[in-house]
Amino acid sequence: MATLLDDAILNGKAIKDWTISDHNGALDTLGAHIYDPFPGIVVLGGGSKPHTLKVRIETDSGEVESEIVDALACYSAVPFGHRDPVIVDEVTRFIEEMATIPRSISHRFLGPWLAKLKEYTQMEMFLPKNGGTEANEAAIKLVRKWARNFGGRNGEGIVETPVIISAKKAFHGRGFGSTSLMDDAMSRKDLAPLMPGFEHIPFNNIDALEAKIREHDGNVAAVYLEPIQAEAGIILPDENYLKEVQQLAKKNNTLLVLDEIQTGFGRTGQDFAWQTYGLEPPDLMTIGKAMGAGILPISCLCGKRHLMEMFEPHSEGSTFGGYPLASFVGLLTICEMQKRNISALAATNGDYLLRRLEEVASQHPSKVKEVRGKGMLIGVELFEQYDGHELSMSLLKNGVYAKETHKTNLRIAPPIVIDKEGMDTIASALDKGLSGIH
Ligand code: PLP
Repeated sequence: MATLLDDAILNGKAIKDWTISDHNGALDTLGAHIYDPFPGIVVLGGGSKPHTLKVRIETDSGEVESEIVDALACYSAVPFGHRDPVIVDEVTRFIEEMATIPRSISHRFLGPWLAKLKEYTQMEMFLPKNGGTEANEAAIKLVRKWARNFGGRNGEGIVETPVIISAKKAFHGRGFGSTSLMDDAMSRKDLAPLMPGFEHIPFNNIDALEAKIREHDGNVAAVYLEPIQAEAGIILPDENYLKEVQQLAKKNNTLLVLDEIQTGFGRTGQDFAWQTYGLEPPDLMTIGKAMGAGILPISCLCGKRHLMEMFEPHSEGSTFGGYPLASFVGLLTICEMQKRNISALAATNGDYLLRRLEEVASQHPSKVKEVRGKGMLIGVELFEQYDGHELSMSLLKNGVYAKETHKTNLRIAPPIVIDKEGMDTIASALDKGLSGIH
């Protein structure tokens, strides 16, 4: 029987016979230009190991099939790597038997998933969504609802525009609320007016936060942060910063919202980065990416009960948030994370990889300014005269897919389960890649 996977014909050619320029030509003419994909390469599937990808790549002798190491894991969304046999088997069996139904009728995996989320996140109630941005949009709504009713110096409710303080260079997604949380010029270009009531302070500067709270005395609803700024270039806070933020927020009757969409689910060496930095659970937390095991977009707003109970029927909703497949995959992901000790593995693998990358960096002192990271979220910062995009291209030539963030930072965040050989390949590709940039 003909299948889409094997035989489909499009533009007069079987898809399997499309060349790299057929693929990239279609992206160029038909896809909105919101990314700048690498030229000369198309991914065909997962590779022979969890951390590898099978690709078609242009070489001097024409197009060839080959394998590369995935050192990005879809921006931390692929913790177990590609084609994990347990995930594939469980999900295949599941879709053979379960239908899609809306949230207005209960199904047998939503309750168990929520119970598991409570145990794993230490939060109390949950609003499942799909993309990370959606979870942040819901969080912003809830902050406003709370602020109108219980914000202000003495919990009397804020009458003026409630203020949400977030960090410069942060990344929170692509909705209007998330974009308002961000100060990035390209993200905001031509979109004015963005939402009112957002203020941006430098990350990792407690004095700046204190001053901003004082400036808007009595009107600050929330402090909204990534615990580690990932997209900004893996910017780590000082050891005590987040604890001080939490204390300051509490003292001022202000919510602390943490966006753990990239840092959560083991990536930084603990289940969540707030644990890495010794915090109490935040008031609200958004999660996404890895919680879908790299096969499904699943996200969630998590929060304390008294906050989450402010949502009522018809105040929010989502067709696919918490639908059967998402609930099943969400539950399966946490169970597998716990069974395989993924957070501890991220800590030990992260120590090894960081050390290897530091060794490489020490061989290129005029090019690498700093290597830094927590667990399996690592950044390599170049001096400003060097181009991160040139470095990622150079890495790809040496068999490793990683990607620059902004101009001078390279993000390295492979699947957490990567083996030692894979990490050594990343280190040697970085070495060769650095030699190749000028
Ligand atoms: N928040 C953080 C910290 C992220 O890194 C991202 C995505 O990179 C998002 C939010 C947005 O998530 P999504 O792209 O799934 O909407």
